[in-house]
Amino acid sequence: MTASDTRRVVVATANPGKLEEIRSALPFEGWEFLTARDLGLEPLDVEETGDTFLANARLKARAYHEAFGLPALADDSGLEVDALGGAPGVYSSRYAGECCGGDSANNARLMIELGEVPAGKRTARFRCVMVFVDESGDETVAEGACEGALGFELRGDSGFGYDPLFLPDATPGRTMAELTLEEKNAISHRGAALRALRDSLGR
Ligand code: IMP
Repeated sequence: MTASDTRRVVVATANPGKLEEIRSALPFEGWEFLTARDLGLEPLDVEETGDTFLANARLKARAYHEAFGLPALADDSGLEVDALGGAPGVYSSRYAGECCGGDSANNARLMIELGEVPAGKRTARFRCVMVFVDESGDETVAEGACEGALGFELRGDSGFGYDPLFLPDATPGRTMAELTLEEKNAISHRGAALRALRDSLGR
């Protein structure tokens, strides 16, 4: 394959964790996943005004497609906790505040909100919606989910976000942050969404 056969796709994220997983999840043969910075530009600050993962993924994919003139892939994802009525949901990245949150503050708030909710009632899932906008502006949507529960303490150093608190049903006794990248991709909401996207695109 020559460089001219490569399909350059801009990934609409500044989150290094997401990017690493997208790049390693699947052999999208012949695709090169680029960030804004790879293109020598600043990431776009797309306001996530939607109230669904799909709406926000679409906002990001469209904005990047228009700004960079390339096919664009956006992921919007988050954690839904049953005992909290589905929160933090689309607010997962800003659960502890718009200005000064970050992963550790978000995890701390989640532990406070859950308090002493007992083990059997700490069920939750990660959801991911991917929107791919191609060269012509046509859109493909794919989704994935990962069922599990929240622990009482943070464990593990891998991944990002709520991974140290999340115990996937598929890996009993281990948090998402105790999995290798390959293990996470095999069971995660993002891995599932990427596989569904590849199938929808007939690749
Ligand atoms: P987004 O950038 O608006 O899609 O927000 C995603 C947020 O959801 C992240 O900042 C994390 O808080 C959470 N999240 C999404 N996917 C994961 C994951 O794979 N592991 C842990 N947290 C995640």
